Amino acid sequence: MNSPLESLFAQLSAIEHCSGGTQALRDFICSHAPTTYYRVDVDSTGNVGFYAPDATVTLQAHYDMVCMGSAPAIDIIEESGWLKARNSSLGADNGIAVALMLLLAQEKVCVNMLFTNDEEIGLVGARELQLPIVTPNVLNLDSEEEGIVYIGCAGGVDVVIDKAFETSRIEGEFVRLSTQGLIGGHSGVDIDKKITSATALMASMIDAQSRLVSMVGGERRNAIAVSGALTVSGRCEDFAHHSHILCTPVQSPQWVIEDEGVAQLFKALPHGVLTYDTLHTVVDTSANLAIVTIDENRARFQLSLRSMRSAGLDEALEQVASIANRWGASMSASGRYEPWEAKPNPFATQVEAIVRQTLGSVQSAVMHAGLECGILQQHAPNAYFASIGPTIEAPHSVHERVERATVERFEILVRRIISAV
Ligand SMILES: [Zn+2]
Repeated sequence: MNSPLESLFAQLSAIEHCSGGTQALRDFICSHAPTTYYRVDVDSTGNVGFYAPDATVTLQAHYDMVCMGSAPAIDIIEESGWLKARNSSLGADNGIAVALMLLLAQEKVCVNMLFTNDEEIGLVGARELQLPIVTPNVLNLDSEEEGIVYIGCAGGVDVVIDKAFETSRIEGEFVRLSTQGLIGGHSGVDIDKKITSATALMASMIDAQSRLVSMVGGERRNAIAVSGALTVSGRCEDFAHHSHILCTPVQSPQWVIEDEGVAQLFKALPHGVLTYDTLHTVVDTSANLAIVTIDENRARFQLSLRSMRSAGLDEALEQVASIANRWGASMSASGRYEPWEAKPNPFATQVEAIVRQTLGSVQSAVMHAGLECGILQQHAPNAYFASIGPTIEAPHSVHERVERATVERFEILVRRIISAV
């Protein structure tokens, strides 16, 4: 009952390929190339390229996966038209695309293939790519909604702000505020969904009279913070009206921060949508106040900034730098990757036409999150990029699932695109 594509996907799911531990799947991929037809190249970051004579399109997918739950032990099950894994992430992101590419390689289809390594831990493979992209067109297969052709995505940069402070031990009334019932979300695609961030919520609890003791909140740079705990002067009555906050009195005395700049800085740092692109009805520039630690004479704030424009990243960096500067903190930025800026693109137009013919409708869109296209575009400035994929829900979680009918049509689409271009 399984298609050859699903069988191949099941086969590669049995091979360990969590981000940071992809060697076994890399060997499997390399062993699948008919070397009489493709030239196979592997670079020192573990990216793999298959080069066919006279190809005009490169298919591109990442072959690492986010391992959650019992993964890399993946037990695939079928549930009313969807594939999912029992108690683990599935790895359909981006394993379905990898399986499709290997299937096409077995058939010696005239197309180049680029399998990138460790996308999920900071787009590592794409950043460090040493393999050439030699075709005029690149089809990224890492988006997750059938019927949408992506033609642009956000770039990003991580920021760390540090400020040292003195403390003194004082008597008074103190409480510990901790969050409850927050749901979190992706720092890019969910940033405009009015999801309460634990860190931003804690910042809003601080007022001019507050004496700050400590704060810890947030989980990952690319996630909207779920948990936070703030110890601050005051009484629980003052905070009772917040449904997401649990308040408990704590003992006195406490070591309080003797520098009001810490609280001011915390309150001034941005979180959420900074600018909105009304033309494309998408977030333009955003900030996620991801992780906050205020303890032991040092405050540290970690933010992830995203923008659909390279200049937007510069503006956001400038804004945060001036806030840090205003309150006497130091700032460092790292891991910057450029956006894939949407522009007229004959390849994407062709892809859209094929999707419309095949599915009856098509939508072109940009995404406020990172695809590898932006970085790969830097390696191949003259190539045209587009991105499609089957419908995948809840990637990076134990609830990840892929819709089988969209997988079938995804294969048809990719084959049609290769033969039309
Ligand atoms: Zn992915």
